[in-house]
Amino acid sequence: MGFLYLIQSLMNDVQPNLSPKYTIIGQGLAGSILAYLLLQEGQEVQIIDTLEFPSSSKVAAGLYNPLTGRKLIKTWLADKIFPFLEDFYQQLEKEVKAKFFHPQAIYRPFINEDSQKYFKSDHVPDDFSDFGTLTFDNTKYQNIINSQFGGVTTKHSGWVDLKVMLSAFRTYFSEKGILREEKFTSKNEITNQIFIFCEGIEGRNNPHFNYLPFNPVKGEVLDIEIDNIDLQEIVNQGAFVIPLGENNYRLGATYSWHELDFTPTEQGKNDLIEKYQKLMKPSMRILSHNAGVRPATKDRRPFIGMHPDDKNIGIFNGLGSKGVSLAPYFAKQFVDFLVYQKELHPEVNINRFASLYLGVDKV
Ligand SMILES: Cc1cc2nc3c(=O)[nH]c(=O)nc-3n(C[C@H](O)[C@H](O)[C@H](O)COP(=O)(O)OP(=O)(O)OC[C@H]3O[C@@H](n4cnc5c(N)ncnc54)[C@H](O)[C@@H]3O)c2cc1C
Repeated sequence: MGFLYLIQSLMNDVQPNLSPKYTIIGQGLAGSILAYLLLQEGQEVQIIDTLEFPSSSKVAAGLYNPLTGRKLIKTWLADKIFPFLEDFYQQLEKEVKAKFFHPQAIYRPFINEDSQKYFKSDHVPDDFSDFGTLTFDNTKYQNIINSQFGGVTTKHSGWVDLKVMLSAFRTYFSEKGILREEKFTSKNEITNQIFIFCEGIEGRNNPHFNYLPFNPVKGEVLDIEIDNIDLQEIVNQGAFVIPLGENNYRLGATYSWHELDFTPTEQGKNDLIEKYQKLMKPSMRILSHNAGVRPATKDRRPFIGMHPDDKNIGIFNGLGSKGVSLAPYFAKQFVDFLVYQKELHPEVNINRFASLYLGVDKV
């Protein structure tokens, strides 16, 4: 515990928890960022993670994108979440000494003339320009993209190379001697330490939290090669194509609520090829094919907070398809809750499911 930290806490008239040792279960995107931010607050942390379970973070495309849907509306809390994540990942790169943060515009061609008309009209909100700029001609990428109506270029977007980031985190935690490579089972003793479960899709099977309404979604992505095109931006319309460097690109993603496993399928591959051909002109070659399951939730909000009956057990999960953008902001909020007893956003706090825990509601 740093002396300065203690003085600062006393000056702020808040009582930090002086003694707890946090055990974080899971070193995916959620557990890594939560553990890191707890360490930044001078807390004592250990992490338990097994390579026995697959991790959706290692499959994820890593996109972050503030404008979504047909009308490209700002995503939930975009004004807070996106500036926060940009600072966070840049600082993190310096701290863990790795390069994984790739801010990049996303070009979203209009799907048809109606869509173009909508964006020419005054229906577009005044603050649209905070996150997007409009083009109404077809010259942009005319030899690369099947598009004739122009489109929107998104700002404050990009992708995070999660494999590189998680590997850098693993080295960082190992060097601090706080990573235990093992599987946490119910036989592990829950002591008076604080245990925070960040198990991704495995969280569904956690006896403490299996009352929470998960809604897992399988996704598949292809890494592909396209020869000699000059594509500076991510393209997204029905599917996304992310330039990874040289002639390599990532193409994704599918959404399926069946066969919830990490096995790539012929159907997934064919769906992606079809979407690619609709969007892009050049031919491509498939380099690799991956699948995973997103830890999504029925109300599309994360699961954060402490168990209703056991205040030593918490959860940070349910990041769904937006882990890259949600994890930094809400990990920070969870740390402020744990260390300084600040409020959690009501839409993420698992106390919204208290009645499910008591067996009153059915979702
Ligand atoms: C195909 C696909 C594409 C995606 N694309 C994007 C994207 O472009 N942008 C985006 O933001 N999100 C994307 N996502 C979603 C993103 O992957 C998730 O939001 C995020 O990775 C979830 O992180 P997590 O840490 O909760 O889970 P995970 O990454 O799954 O981590 C959980 C960790 O917990 C460990 N664990 C579990 N149980 C135990 C136990 N009992 N003992 C020890 N360790 C345990 C596991 O081994 C694992 O390491 C995508 C997902 C998929 C599948």
